[in-house]
Order: sequence, then structure tokens, then C-alpha cells
Amino acid sequence: MATIAPSPPAALIDGFGRRISYLRLSVTDRCDLRCRYCMGEAMTFLPRSAVLTLEEMAAIADAFVARGVRRIRLTGGEPLVRRGIGELAARIGRHLATGALDELTLTTNATRLAEHAPALAAAGVRRINVSLDSLDPERFRAITRTGDLGQVLAGIAAARAVGMAVKINMVALKGVNEDEVGAMLRWCVAEGHDLTFIETMPLGVVDEDRTDRYLPLDGVRRDLIERFGLVADAHRTGGPARYLRVPGTATRVGFITPLTENFCDGCNRVRLTASGRLYMCLGHDDRVDLRAAWREGGRDALDAAIDEALALKPRAHGFRIEERDAAPAVARHMSATGG
Ligand code: SAM
Ligand code: SF4
Repeated sequence: MATIAPSPPAALIDGFGRRISYLRLSVTDRCDLRCRYCMGEAMTFLPRSAVLTLEEMAAIADAFVARGVRRIRLTGGEPLVRRGIGELAARIGRHLATGALDELTLTTNATRLAEHAPALAAAGVRRINVSLDSLDPERFRAITRTGDLGQVLAGIAAARAVGMAVKINMVALKGVNEDEVGAMLRWCVAEGHDLTFIETMPLGVVDEDRTDRYLPLDGVRRDLIERFGLVADAHRTGGPARYLRVPGTATRVGFITPLTENFCDGCNRVRLTASGRLYMCLGHDDRVDLRAAWREGGRDALDAAIDEALALKPRAHGFRIEERDAAPAVARHMSATGG
């Protein structure tokens, strides 16, 4: 009797026809910094028993790659504080060699990048995002509460030395670093980095009111277009940023503007927390527990849980920041969901 081969699991298409091809994997919710817009000073992190093992993360990544995910970004918390991160990157990086995955990337604060850059490069990481909100050591320390700018710059230099392209992410904060956006752009041009500006999003309670620091990026963009003669650039990474270019240079400038422009129609991503919860949207609380599915029923249960999650993906986030003293749109911090 002829046997019927099992059909491969279906691609990930959500209820609005969007194809999910990008997974953000938060490898830890912990961090060695305490950026003021991201975290409170005293944070309660997940107990270690609640965090996925590296083997579980790799197995879940395998399942997503089998379902058509082409890009994976390791994030956190700070991904480089997770022990074994190099091994996890190498394990996921095997999919690059087979052609099943197009890209493995990382978002980091770069405090430990000098130490990890060679292993990440060996795993196939070619591009990284580094969060850097100021080039002034004292201001950098004030924003991050504990950070040492020198360490971060050494980390960036180490990444470049092993051939990685660097994109700087700068959260633009009213009255904090808004006077530095031009200087940051000039520095990125001189160093050959791309630069993306980000609006603060109302995620999780921090120690201050974000409305005081919220800087709409439409004004920043107009100002930079005028000062630098920025021109449109067709480059898209599949992410929400829209790019401009500094003429005569390789530096692209992006703007992530969840509050001034909604970009949800083209959303192609989902996010896995370090505890194994899959969130369909940064701005919504719906999630599915992939850790439980994997532990209870292995790959079949995992695929079923991913399908269940897909049905929950909303059309759009619901962020608003105008209401002073309003509770954050979402109680989870960016560091918990994976920025
Ligand atoms: N620790 C790593 C880092 O800082 O790059 C990775 C995780 S961090 C949560 C990812 C990105 O989210 C960073 O670029 C950070 O600036 C940004 N971020 C954190 N909280 C945010 C918020 N409330 N609004 C906007 N961006 C935020
Ligand atoms: Fe840590 Fe990144 Fe949040 Fe800063 S933005 S506190 S580096 S997780």
C-alpha cells in the first residue's frame, strides 16, 4: 500500500493576509543597563526557572524556520548577558548555511559586544543594531543610569573589525537628547553606520512620565532633511522603518514612528519572550504559551500553538501617548517582549 507523505506545515499567514517571515527572539528579560524610558531602576526579572533553556529556544526557532520564517533577531533584555548566547547563535545560524534562513541579527546595547563579536560573526551574524542614545559620556550614563560609553564604543569597533554592519538605534527624547540628533547623524556618517530614530512607546511602567519625554519624529525628520539634504531611499528591511539617505554617503537614516504614523499594514513579525510566550503584536496582550506546548506535546503541539497564535494577530497596535499620566498602553516592558 502506498504511504502518503505528511504535508509540510503551512506557511504562516495571519487573518489579514500578512505573511509572517520574521521572528524576534528575546533570549533574556535581564539587562545590565536601566535605560530610563525602558525600565524602572528596581526591576523584577523572571526567575531562571521560568526562562526557556537554550535548547528550547533553538527548537522553537527550528519550528518557525520550517514554517517559512526567513529572518530571526536575537534580542532581550540584553541578549549578550545570557550565558551561552554564542552557542545559541551558532545553532540557529546553521539554517543560514542550508539556505532556510536569510538572516540572523541581534539588537544589543553593546556593553559586552567586544567579547562576543567574533563568536557572533562566526555564527553568521552580519548586521547588528546597537542602541545608543547619546555620544556624551555623562548624558549616556544619565539615560542608562549605569552605562559606560567607552565600553559601548569598543563593542561597536569590535563588531566592525569582524566585518559586521552596524545600525545605531537612537530613542529621541524631548529635553534629553533632541539637541544631539544632528551630531549623532554626523558621527554615523563618519563611522559608516546606518541610523534609526525611534519614538518612545508606552510600554511598561517606568519611574517617570513618558509624555514629558515624547518627541514626535515628524519634526526631527523635517529638520534633518533641511540640514543634511536627506533624500529618499528605497531600502526596506521588512521592518517598520522608512529610510532616507545622506547624499554622497552610504548612511541611511530611518524613523520608527509608531505614534505619528501607523505602519501595521505591512507587519511581518511575531515576538517570543524569554519565557516562551509568543506575542503577535508589541501593542497587545494576546499571547500563546509555546513553552507549555513544546513541553507537553513536542513539535506537533508547538505547530498547533503557533497556528492558534496566528489567529490572534490583530490588525494594528493601539498606542497613544497624548494622555498625561495615563497607564501605559501595555503593561509589559519592551525588555520583556523583546524590542
Ligand atoms: N538591550 C538591547 C538594546 O538596548 O538594544 C535590546 C533590547 S531593547 C528593549 C531594544 C530596543 O528597544 C532598544 O533600541 C531600545 O532603545 C528600545 N526601547 C526600549 N524601551 C522602549 C520604549 N518604551 N519605547 C521605544 N523604544 C524602546
Ligand atoms: Fe536594557 Fe536595552 Fe532596555 Fe536599555 S533599552 S534597559 S539596554 S533592554
